[in-house]
This record gives sequence, structure tokens and C-alpha cells, in this order.
Amino acid sequence: MKPSITVELAARVKNLPPYLFATIDIMKQEAKAKGVDLIDLSIGDPDIPTPKHIVDAMKAAVEKPEHHRYPSYEGMLSFRQAVASWYKSRFNVDLDAKTEVLSLIGSKEGIGHIPLAFVEPGDVVLVPSPGYPVYPVGTLFAGGESYIMPLVEKNNFLPDLKAIPADILERARLMYINYPNNPTSACAPRKFYEEVIELAGEHNIIVCHDAAYSEIYFDNEKPMSFMEVDGAKEVGIEMHSLSKTYNMTGWRIGFAVGHKDVIAGLGKIKSNLDSGVFQAVQEASIAALETDDKILAEIRGTYQERRDVLYAGLKNLGMEVIKPKASFYLWTKVPAGYDSSSFVAHLLDKAGVLGTPGNGFGTPGEGYIRFALTVPAARMKEAVERIGKVL
Ligand SMILES: *Cc1c(COP(=O)(O)O)cnc(C)c1O
Repeated sequence: MKPSITVELAARVKNLPPYLFATIDIMKQEAKAKGVDLIDLSIGDPDIPTPKHIVDAMKAAVEKPEHHRYPSYEGMLSFRQAVASWYKSRFNVDLDAKTEVLSLIGSKEGIGHIPLAFVEPGDVVLVPSPGYPVYPVGTLFAGGESYIMPLVEKNNFLPDLKAIPADILERARLMYINYPNNPTSACAPRKFYEEVIELAGEHNIIVCHDAAYSEIYFDNEKPMSFMEVDGAKEVGIEMHSLSKTYNMTGWRIGFAVGHKDVIAGLGKIKSNLDSGVFQAVQEASIAALETDDKILAEIRGTYQERRDVLYAGLKNLGMEVIKPKASFYLWTKVPAGYDSSSFVAHLLDKAGVLGTPGNGFGTPGEGYIRFALTVPAARMKEAVERIGKVL
């Protein structure tokens, strides 16, 4: 008999919920196989191409042999300096490029890895829910325990910090927050960040602010950076991504900035697991960070037009929609008689429109559906018409 093995998954993998977007992918494939003309509003992946000057910078960079070798773990100094300059000009925040900036292979990578640096088995991580699924999964992989901070409408989708029990605060090592928020599209006021800093200082909790959507905003109301708030750099870090800002989801680059010991700890994990970001991508990203604001304003304008079409359209149909000030999502209550999953299935079956079930981002998202503004306005109009016929 040939030797063979039984493949047994580790408990940490067995215990994982199915990755939300993998489930949605299956639904999408089935609809496409049936020949449905699908309007896909389910995934936050920009349909607009990367701006040309960034692609051109990449073409030039990829020719350079010095970029064909292993990159430095922490990122090229020139890239980290570009990040520091970007923070200075965008938020008036001073950062030391050498110690307070770290390159990431997309912010998902940093979000997933940070608990490995700071969370002991049994420690608590404070996780907003509904939220980006990587927060609880990164926690699980490090052996930590997620404590769910529900984001509900009556609190403007901000966690109720006063509701966190004392014994949980005692055991908490890390807290994730994310504004502008995916999936609720909420923004956070300065006062909230001040309360977070106060709480973190009191209980020795590292704050990890996910700012992936800080540049996708509407009506000229710029969201702020956590780093702008006095004391933020003493309690935590902020992660940012080039993915959403510059339509670069496929390029895999992001960065973390802030508390130098937190940056160093995350860097230590990364230097043992990955070997950094392709330097040609870093060089193109310097060009990205120097993008003329006119180009970004145009991208924001495109999303704003789509937001206006979808928001007004759904509102007209009598749906309860939250008007986003930032991010590219519409967080919408499902109509009476449905839950998140049954409404998503109904829209897919009867209208060929795919949204994301709110409960897929965590139990407190039950009763909502998320629509992403990642199709052209004309398709958005058609989506509204089709939804109108099946409500
Ligand atoms: C898209 C997204 C990210 C990850 O972006 P990367 O492509 O990995 O940089 C992180 N957080 C949130 C909330 C996101 O929606």
C-alpha cells in the first residue's frame, strides 16, 4: 500500500467562519452560470483603474535591477519619507520616517499580523462589529479572545466605550477602530478619538486605527486622522492603504504609522514572516502619494455621483438608507419581512442585484445590507429600477 496521510486542519482553521466574500463569490458564480446580467454591488474593490502617472512610474521602476532583489523589511526610506510627507501635508502630523513608519503588504496584512506581536493567548482584543472580518480572525490566530463592541445606529455607529465591562478592560491588550467605517460609512468626531486615547492610557491598551477610507469622502468634508489627535501617537498606530485611495487594490501596499514601539513590534513579526513589498511597487507608490489633488477630487466626484443616485433612488423606494459622508458604501436597513441573508438572496434571484448581507460583518449587522458604489452611475440607476420592481 502507498503511504498516505490524513489531512487534519488545526483547530484555529476549523473554527473559522467561512470567509464572507468566498460565500458571496459562490452566489455570484451561480447567478452568472444561469446567465443573469448581474449588477454586483457586493465587494469594495474600485472599478476605476489606477491613475496613469502611477502605472507609468511602475513601468520605469520595474526596469531597474536594484528593485529585483529583496526589499528592506521596513520599506525603502524614500517610501517611508513619502508617507511622512503625505501625513504632514494631508493632516499636519509629524512622523519620523525611520521609526514611526512601516510598509505593509496591504493594510489587511498589518491588521492580521498585529495581534501576533502583542496578544498573549487568553488576552482580549476589542473588536468593532459589524466590521472588517480580519479583526476577529487576526485575534483568533494569535490565540486572543475578541470582545465585540457593537456599532449601532443610535450611537452613530461608534462603540459605547462606557459599556465595556471593567474585567474586559483589565484583560484587553489591543483595540481596533475604523473610521470612515466599513460597512456603516460612519465617521468619527475628534471627541470620540479623545475618549479612546483616555481609555487606552488608563488600561494600557494599544489602539490600532484602520484608516483605509480617509480619502474617500463627500461634500468636501475631509475625515480626520487618528494621528491628528493629541496623545494618539502615545497609545497607538494608524494603518492606511493605497488600495482605496489610489485604486490600487491589486498592487498590495499599505503602511502603518505611529507609536514607535508598536511599529517595531509589528515589524519584528513581519521580518520573520515576509520580506517586504516589491521595491518597484514602493517606487510607484511614492508617485501615488504625490498625486495631484485634482485627480483625487475627480475620483471622489465619481463616487459622490454614484452615492447620490443610489441614496436618492433607494430613499424614493421607501428604504431606510444612511447617507454616507465617506467610504464607498451604503448601509441600508432591509425591508420588513426579511433578514440580511433572505433580502440579499431575494435581490439576487429576482433583480440580479448583489449586495452584501450585513450580518456577514458580525451579528450586530443583522437587518442591514451593504451596497458598494463600485459600478458606474448608469448601472446604479438600473439597479434602483430593478430593486423597485421586486420590493
Ligand atoms: C479594503 C479594506 C482594508 C484592506 O485594504 P488592503 O487592500 O489590504 O490595503 C482594510 N480595512 C478595511 C476596513 C477595508 O475595507
